[in-house]
Amino acid sequence: MKNCDFDLFVIGAGSGGVRTSRVAADLGARVAIAEERYFGGTCVNVGCVPKKLFSYAGHYADDWEDSRGFGWNPGQPQFDWPSLLANKDKEISRLNGIYRTILESRKIQIFNERARLAGPHAIEIGGERVSARHILLAVGGWPWKNPFPGNELAITSNEIFHLPELPESMLVYGGGYIATEFASILHGLGVDVTLVYRGDKLLRGFDEDIRAFISGEIGKRLRVVFNREIAQIERAGKGNLLVTLSDGERIHAGQVLCATGRKPMTADLGLENTGVKTNANGAIEVDENFETAEPGIFAVGDAINRVTLTPVALAEGQIVARSLFGGQDTRMDYEYIPSAVFCHPNIATVGSTEAQANTTGRPYDVFLAKVRQLKHTLSGRDELSLIKLIVDCETQRVIGLHMAGPDAGEIAQGFAVAMNCGATKADFDRTIGIHPTLAEEFVTMRNRRKEHSSAA
Ligand code: NDP
Repeated sequence: MKNCDFDLFVIGAGSGGVRTSRVAADLGARVAIAEERYFGGTCVNVGCVPKKLFSYAGHYADDWEDSRGFGWNPGQPQFDWPSLLANKDKEISRLNGIYRTILESRKIQIFNERARLAGPHAIEIGGERVSARHILLAVGGWPWKNPFPGNELAITSNEIFHLPELPESMLVYGGGYIATEFASILHGLGVDVTLVYRGDKLLRGFDEDIRAFISGEIGKRLRVVFNREIAQIERAGKGNLLVTLSDGERIHAGQVLCATGRKPMTADLGLENTGVKTNANGAIEVDENFETAEPGIFAVGDAINRVTLTPVALAEGQIVARSLFGGQDTRMDYEYIPSAVFCHPNIATVGSTEAQANTTGRPYDVFLAKVRQLKHTLSGRDELSLIKLIVDCETQRVIGLHMAGPDAGEIAQGFAVAMNCGATKADFDRTIGIHPTLAEEFVTMRNRRKEHSSAA
């Protein structure tokens, strides 16, 4: 093993791959990384970062409208999609450069090519074979379109960031993170959006109160069609698609965005040349050290499909690097991982949903408030915010925190720290609020919705 070309060969320069490479190199490892597409992976190029920039763009429509109640006379707004794309592309190129610099400055060898496993310690790249003591698979995921006639006419989140023109109307298909975020963003940019989802409430897996609330709030802004699927898509002239839903309804749309999930990108990686195993979804199976069934080969991030969020991939990669080259034995803690959905209004969540609390058999209390933000007393906007806490009755620990409202992600991040430290309801209550804010609602919740709820 000492004669290997590298101590660590990383396949994939997305969030997880770059973080692992950087930490490993800082700990003295000889590292190489292979990337066939773009530096920074999905998050930087066709995910979190450009999506958030688009989300800011979408919010201006609301700000414009709301400003009237505050005495502004803002005139007629005009939005220019090519300007947004160009400015976004400039920022993404800057970030691509930063990622490359992070690697180059640590003398990490970069291969701008596709790499395949040729054996337990062997990688095939650019027609050559190199060897490594350890290999990390950080290959990420890719949008998946469910099969139906004409699905090739629909775009995915990969293409939405590069559309040459913004259509007048769009049908967004799905009810998860990407569908709700893009339905909100596109509506904010002036597109006539119809959101079609097979379930009866958006965002399966989130707290049921949040799901019901956000389905209603998004439904105030755009048409949401529940309990329906796309049966087929046909062309209907230039720039026009005809979508038939499962109940026969026909909808014309300039584009269809299919946001029906993502799958790990583990095909054609040469896994068959090793003992690495994948599950039915294509996700790489790993143990608690992120090691695959093949000793010396590790995997993190979307490729293992545990919690497919950038900060989770970063944390997983860091654990791998520190354990391989820093002698640290740390386990990833998947409890109290905060996350946000940047739909309008935003959602943020930390810890258990009520349904999860219900399955534990432990008694819990629910505190819930629907509030009108002070801003909307003058803006006149018909938008409420929802705040919810779930408290374990025995320990009094706050085990679930959920919010739908402006800047929910910004607000929940700090509470996630408190919850990771074991904050109790009494800790929340004795914390002085910042007045007048929406966040202060979390430290002033007095009314239980249910007492000592429990399945058991
Ligand atoms: P999600 O898993 O969030 O949502 C997929 C949606 O597609 C669900 O509503 C699902 O319905 C629906 N769906 C799945 N299969 C079918 C089918 N056969 N027919 C019709 N509908 C179907 O995936 P996304 O693509 O939105 O996002 C992928 C992941 O990326 C997220 O889970 C998240 O981890 C990450 N992400 C995070 C973001 C953030 O942090 N803000 C933003 C964007 C993505 P059902 O619920 O009924 O199964």
